[in-house]
Amino acid sequence: MWNFTVSALFAKKNNYSLKKGESTMCVDHRISCTCGAKSASFNFKNDVLPHDVLLSLSCPACSENIQFDSATMLRDNGWIIEYDMEIVHFMRQKLPAADLSPEFIFDEGYCTWRGVYPTDDHDAAKERDALIALAKTDRKRYFEEFKKWGIQRMERLAREGWRKANEREPVRT
Ligand SMILES: [Zn+2]
Repeated sequence: MWNFTVSALFAKKNNYSLKKGESTMCVDHRISCTCGAKSASFNFKNDVLPHDVLLSLSCPACSENIQFDSATMLRDNGWIIEYDMEIVHFMRQKLPAADLSPEFIFDEGYCTWRGVYPTDDHDAAKERDALIALAKTDRKRYFEEFKKWGIQRMERLAREGWRKANEREPVRT
């Protein structure tokens, strides 16, 4: 289900043109958590839902003070995203006919991490920098290493317990 990631990484590589500091395109979607200690990058598929749909974001520290409500919230590895489900239902004609749960909004990409986890785009760009020198000297090995990096990275993220890195049945809570 999340096989898109490796190809998405390749696509990203092209977008970044192997240069540093070209991740500014994500700035608009970076949102701070309630306590302000951390932030996350969000993706809104096809801009179907307005950004207001994201009511609050809690990092593992500030989510401890949250009364979790599965009707409006999604939990991922200690982070909690709270959606304005009234907006979701208001926009239902633009969404596929489905159970409009927080899981659906997250898993189908209508308001979800940009990448696999909250700071994925930022971290991935830094990790890729380490491979860039190789691209200049040994192109073939670079592509092999890049592919290996993508796969090993996903395996690590799955072990860490990120929702998008794990194959699973859609959760109905
Ligand atoms: Zn926080």
